[in-house]
Amino acid sequence: MLQSPYQSVQVSAVPSQRTPVRDDEAGPWHAEAVCRRDEAGLFFAPSKEPTAARLSREEAAKQVCARCPVMVDCREHALMMPEPYGVWGGLTAAERRVVLARRRRRDVELAKARPIAAAG
Ligand code: SF4
Repeated sequence: MLQSPYQSVQVSAVPSQRTPVRDDEAGPWHAEAVCRRDEAGLFFAPSKEPTAARLSREEAAKQVCARCPVMVDCREHALMMPEPYGVWGGLTAAERRVVLARRRRRDVELAKARPIAAAG
């Protein structure tokens, strides 16, 4: 099992609490977040974090997300906002950028295909 250098950090907030989010925007998933009570320090990088430490911390955060009952809701929230920093819904900020780029490409392809389908 991967040991994070931040393993002893106590939870003080859900990732979404780092950014002001109204309860009605966050949805009911917010109250069930596992990171509300565990390892909140895993989810955001301290300044000047070395690459090896970042990779270890992000992996540890993803392990927390993997046992979270609201991972899908959290991930969609982070993609829709979009949240620019931290691990949300088991994805790093870089991974979320990849997902969003794929969705944009898919939307463009679907928009191109619509007139063809309507004409046929
Ligand atoms: S999926 Fe991860 S970041 Fe999102 S609420 Fe659950 S533990 Fe927190």
